[in-house]
Amino acid sequence: MREFDYARAQSAPQAVGQHARAAHPAYLAGGTTLLDLVKLDVMQPDALVDINRLPLKAIEPLPDGRLRIGALVTNTDLARHPLVQAHYAVLSQALLAGASTQLRNKATTGGNVMQRVRCGYFRDGVSSCNKRAPGSGCAAIGGHNRSVHAVLGTSTQCIATHPSDMCVAMAALGARVTVQGPQGTREIDFADFHLLPGDTPWKEHALDPHELITHVTLDAPLANSRSGYLKLRDRASYQFALASSAVIVVLDGATIRRARIAMGGVGTKPWRVREAEAALAGQTVSAEAFARAARLAFQNAHPQSQNAFKVPLGQQAIVRNLRDLTA
Ligand code: SF4
Repeated sequence: MREFDYARAQSAPQAVGQHARAAHPAYLAGGTTLLDLVKLDVMQPDALVDINRLPLKAIEPLPDGRLRIGALVTNTDLARHPLVQAHYAVLSQALLAGASTQLRNKATTGGNVMQRVRCGYFRDGVSSCNKRAPGSGCAAIGGHNRSVHAVLGTSTQCIATHPSDMCVAMAALGARVTVQGPQGTREIDFADFHLLPGDTPWKEHALDPHELITHVTLDAPLANSRSGYLKLRDRASYQFALASSAVIVVLDGATIRRARIAMGGVGTKPWRVREAEAALAGQTVSAEAFARAARLAFQNAHPQSQNAFKVPLGQQAIVRNLRDLTA
């Protein structure tokens, strides 16, 4: 393991300042991704700025109906919070579907947003991987690409899925990410936070250098909505999604007034499927309407050599979730 400097910050501006003084710094919160990757020598920070003492552990309802979540709120505390369970069921379910109890007790909201990919070629430290070593190629294209590789949003440079369940729920709910930078704070729409790989797969998010996530603020819940998260995977716990869906619906009798759908396990970022949402609006609840929405969600799918099964599986994740929520 390489040597690195360690500093403990007492405020967000101080953390940003400490971060800006190093050549290859990283923020340390729960450490459930970062420390793994440091031990594997995939990430090689020369300085860790520990932000665990920052006052970012509150979940606060705002007067306009939104919910403000501190970046250091653990996945467990967020999933179990009464307001989340009452008004954002899809988020609570997504969090509890992720990782293990021990990891959820350590993992933070900000860290979950910043999760790195689970592609084995990225993590082995030696294979061709444009994300870890820009310009070296992508061993997953034509290689092992069954489980943690995408069919939506891929490029010729990278095909890895974004691994987070929480972020799929947030993509469906709508949210804003507040960040602290050297010049102050700003907000980023959650839909714009994660970047497609394109020609620059090493650029994974919209943060500028040294910026630190301080809060994620969820949109106000849709009135009279019901929501759920369905995760399909190789085993029932402690496993990443092969395909998942976060669905929110507003019903008026047997008519779907509004629907929001996001997918996990199939896209290179948390994948909102607005075409499917538009196709459902105003439709009577029916298997045909669900199937049509599911087809639309994958109309631009580009399967890899081993993961074409994710197209029908992802469609089933939408259909079953809609069926259960409208039953
Ligand atoms: Fe690297 Fe992305 Fe290719 Fe995996 S899919 S080897 S992370 S470039």
